[in-house]
Amino acid sequence: MEFQIYLMEFESVIGLEVHAELETKSKMFCSCSVVDSTIAEPNIAVCPVCTGMPGVLPVVNQRAVEYALRVALALECEIAHTSIFARKNYFYPDLPKGYQISQYEQPLARNGHLTIQTKKGERKIRIRRVHLEEDTGKLTHVHQDEESYSLVDLNRAGVPLLEIVSEPDLRSAEEVRTFANNLRSILRYLKVNSGDLEKGVMRIEPNISVRPLGSDELGTRVEVKNLNSFRALERSVAYEIKRQTREIQQGKSVIQQTVGWDENLGVTVLQRIKEEEDDYRYFPEPDLPPLVIEPEWVASIRSALPELPGAKLHRFTQEYGLSEYDAGVLVAEQAVADYYEEAVAALAEISREEVRPKTIANWIIGELFGLLNQYNVSIEQTRITPQGLASLLLLVSQGEINQNTAKAVLAEMFSTGKPADEIVAARGFTQISDSEFITELVNQVISANPDQVEEYVHGKDSIARWLFGQVMRSAKGQANPQVVQRELDRQLSALRQTDGQ
Ligand code: ADP
Ligand code: MG
Ligand code: ZN
Repeated sequence: MEFQIYLMEFESVIGLEVHAELETKSKMFCSCSVVDSTIAEPNIAVCPVCTGMPGVLPVVNQRAVEYALRVALALECEIAHTSIFARKNYFYPDLPKGYQISQYEQPLARNGHLTIQTKKGERKIRIRRVHLEEDTGKLTHVHQDEESYSLVDLNRAGVPLLEIVSEPDLRSAEEVRTFANNLRSILRYLKVNSGDLEKGVMRIEPNISVRPLGSDELGTRVEVKNLNSFRALERSVAYEIKRQTREIQQGKSVIQQTVGWDENLGVTVLQRIKEEEDDYRYFPEPDLPPLVIEPEWVASIRSALPELPGAKLHRFTQEYGLSEYDAGVLVAEQAVADYYEEAVAALAEISREEVRPKTIANWIIGELFGLLNQYNVSIEQTRITPQGLASLLLLVSQGEINQNTAKAVLAEMFSTGKPADEIVAARGFTQISDSEFITELVNQVISANPDQVEEYVHGKDSIARWLFGQVMRSAKGQANPQVVQRELDRQLSALRQTDGQ
């Protein structure tokens, strides 16, 4: 029996629950401001509604509903004409009302999907539901000397929260990361959430199980809580897949539980065992009417959606001939995608298509990103404009400067904000591709090697490469290779012609 299990192949099955705060001005059910709860003074954005005082009434924030609809539409969900807010009852000090208002049986949206690019090609991950709720407050646990106590900050209580639940369609830690990253991109494109995992405004909880390959039953799942980076998400999923597979191979069974992630040790840690489903005693919120969404409103939100990363990726591969990988990197952030397209347009204006869109992508992904990362600057902040980058690449394509020089010029553009041609002129870089200078170099090399030239003229083509090497050496590698090649070809073919006459 054990032997059989050991030989069995397993597959991992993962579904995600994602919570995203909606960046509205005010909270979900009151007019308190939404503040950055990682920096704001505790309890400055609170009122009787969000602190759960008796006798108050919640009012739905229409903007939050609009933001939620943007996301639901971007995930191609069916929008419910009527959805119902319910009370989810539980007791915890960060929840002053003793219940959270959430959508339960009738959520805002269902049956969507998000298509991701994986090693095995495109995969369509189904979205089970998207619903609206409110965030809880934040607790800070203090252990000081003999004393232990917890501080309650209700700035976050009542902030609009969107819950997005996928079907268990993901099959590896890598796919989980890709899915989560794509979802983050979408939230950022839609301007409803900054996607800042560290700040806790976007929180991802994977549910992980394994099963024999080919089975279509679900195994017992483990849920991971409190992940604050994509790295932690990917590592914790990979760890759980391994651990559960090993347990099953050893003839044990997986216990349904909630775990945390220990970043330093790289292991999951038991938080609590889930013996049965929690009983939240849901019932419809008596203080709120059903949420009715008119199709006209949905249509107008749909028509105002921006081009989303998935569609942009397709367009970039088709229109600019980029690989899916490069296109994926460029479209992850709208600001980067815009920068790229502005650079392509600027080059089209100043050149006659000598520079391919692929080359521009390489310069952005390789060189520009390198500088941005090194100095921790965003693409919006850099002093190199797309037009500036275009002018630099034109100099390269015209043979004014070579690749290595261009990299140095780019670094200087980055730190000084000066235009490429100014830097090139000031540093005397042009000399290296100054065609008179190169003509002279080629001339010298040809006169210094009469025997070799003679052989070439009589048909030994390979000599041309050797001569090219001589010219490059005498220029100490500083000459633009294309200009040298062109000039050498010109002089050598002139010699062959003279010989033939
Ligand atoms: P809850 O955790 O609130 O009980 P659900 O049962 O709806 O919620 O599941 C939450 C998430 O867990 C969903 O993304 C779902 O796809 C995923 N999931 C459910 N069962 C499994 C399983 N056996 N293995 C992996 N993922 C699962
Ligand atoms: Mg859950
Ligand atoms: Zn309030």
